[in-house]
Amino acid sequence: MSDIIQLLPDHVANQIAAGEVVQRPSSVVKELLENSIDAKATEIKLLIKNAGKTLIQVIDNGKGMSVTDARLSFERHATSKIKAAEDLFALHTKGFRGEALASIAAIAHVELKTKVEDVELGTAITIEGSSIVDQNAVAAQKGTSIAVKNLFFNIPARRNFLKSDAVELRHIIDEFHRVVLAHPQINFSMYHNGNTLFDLRSENFRQRIVHTFGKKTNEKLVPVDEDTELLKISGFIGKPEYAKKSRGEQFFFVNQRFIKSPYLNHAILAAFEGLLPNSKYPSYFLNLSVDPKSIDINIHPTKTEIKFDDEPTIYALLRAAVKHSLGQFSIAPILDFKRDASMDTPYHQHRHNEQISSPKVEVDPNFNPFAKSYNNPPTSSPAWEALYTGLDKESADQNNNFSEVQYESDELQSSIFDEDEGKKVHNTFQLQNKYIISTIKSGMVVIDQNRAHERILYEDFLKQITVKDAVCQQLMFPLELEFSTKELEVLQSIKDQLEHAGFVFDDLGHTKAVISAIPVAIKENDVSKVFVQLIDDVQNEVPDFNFSTSDLLAKTFAKSLAIKNGKKLNITEQEFIVNSLFACKEPAISLTNKAIFTTIETSEIESKFN
Ligand code: ADP
Ligand code: MG
Repeated sequence: MSDIIQLLPDHVANQIAAGEVVQRPSSVVKELLENSIDAKATEIKLLIKNAGKTLIQVIDNGKGMSVTDARLSFERHATSKIKAAEDLFALHTKGFRGEALASIAAIAHVELKTKVEDVELGTAITIEGSSIVDQNAVAAQKGTSIAVKNLFFNIPARRNFLKSDAVELRHIIDEFHRVVLAHPQINFSMYHNGNTLFDLRSENFRQRIVHTFGKKTNEKLVPVDEDTELLKISGFIGKPEYAKKSRGEQFFFVNQRFIKSPYLNHAILAAFEGLLPNSKYPSYFLNLSVDPKSIDINIHPTKTEIKFDDEPTIYALLRAAVKHSLGQFSIAPILDFKRDASMDTPYHQHRHNEQISSPKVEVDPNFNPFAKSYNNPPTSSPAWEALYTGLDKESADQNNNFSEVQYESDELQSSIFDEDEGKKVHNTFQLQNKYIISTIKSGMVVIDQNRAHERILYEDFLKQITVKDAVCQQLMFPLELEFSTKELEVLQSIKDQLEHAGFVFDDLGHTKAVISAIPVAIKENDVSKVFVQLIDDVQNEVPDFNFSTSDLLAKTFAKSLAIKNGKKLNITEQEFIVNSLFACKEPAISLTNKAIFTTIETSEIESKFN
């Protein structure tokens, strides 16, 4: 049999290698931006046309390339960054594999223009599918411009595989975020089809985060700082109440390189444990500095995965640092509070065990749950009172079956008796600032205060929005809120529902929203927070969640305004929650289909004493 093995021609080998480095336009953006940073540029411009399918151009004021280097830069394994394998253990540059430009040139039309300091003329080179088609000496500024046109022109399968412009642009912006956050001292600008998307000037890390993600980010950030011999951690985490439905804003930078690490991400989640609403993701922007010798960046061609020598220790340090920050800024008052797993029982399971009749009582649309005092709890006698039969005031007085539990908390006891309400006996008390406990005929009911209040507010808002009879409060001075054009578009799309809910807009234009009246149930100070959450929710709306916009709106309002776990409630507030909850149409199921309350039968308690 004749020999069958052949060496692949270079251009074919380059195309194959390109597949590893360049998956889509955003991969090119990453490689070009990183080269500019390695060239010590202080000013970097990114120009994109048609989400990178037509043009990706990066212009920098870095050190440039000589004529020879300019030609060599497109060869495979051509790099100025390492000379020997040992250099891999002391990396201070982003690139080192010498593959990016060769790969890009194999699958696109590339125009390079570059000039080093102290020479008169620069070099222009045009390459199409790995072959140089043109080279000239040209007048140029110091620095480098690389334009990548018609990506995948010679690999139609790849080109067809590209997603819509919106999706590809999203990937490019994600990549841009990672680079600009890792280098806040560098000026970056980005343009898409002639529009400026970003114009970032040299600044500190916090300012860079805020200028990248918008002014409203500032108030959400909590600093993290930890300096140990092995690891230095600096940066910010997002407060739990601003956690997002999508993973969006999660960034680890190790020695100024963005990395993905499910393991370290887990360390952060562990630190946030018990503080996040279900299925929400915390934001974080964390810089880790370690000795370059202690990591291996070489395990992935796009270098977003790295290996640490001592991962478990890094995990532990990171988790402790984040926990510390959450605690220090008193965001985590009940950090060590162990959740009762039974509270997480999905409703359908719960329902099999319990027979709870849904009361047929309408919510009073006029009551204001945020009025300073909770003086007017709904007083109607709904079906839920069946739960309480046998516990009218006298019998409660006589049996005084509350006394044992009152001993549990002196603090609470005093707050019960401080209430100047005569001889009235209260059947509720609060546990761990999270659960409201109330006695019922068959034993006791334990209510999750946050889920309960969400349910109450939700039903109230939904009714207001659908019946369109919201009561609004006129503001003394109209409230002006700044939003991006995209955010304002979202608000415009739900303007009708917002008006039904009680908002009155003087202006909902291209730069800001001017609001002259708001629903009574919302405090003026909360409006901005609620709108931000609303925009986020509408944008991230998951299809199977999508009952209707009104429903989403009511849910968002309820979730952002509900009393959180960890808040101490006085007796009136506790009673308000209990009474209003059982006046709801669906008092048992939370907005995320979990149990709102559970009951513990006296027989169950008795059995424990046997
Ligand atoms: P690597 O970055 O891994 O070295 P690349 O293929 O990305 O490999 O680049 C090859 C070489 O081209 C670099 O090592 C560098 O010397 C040179 N180079 C690329 N881009 C620039 C730039 N913007 N400014 C100066 N030199 C550059
Ligand atoms: Mg490179």
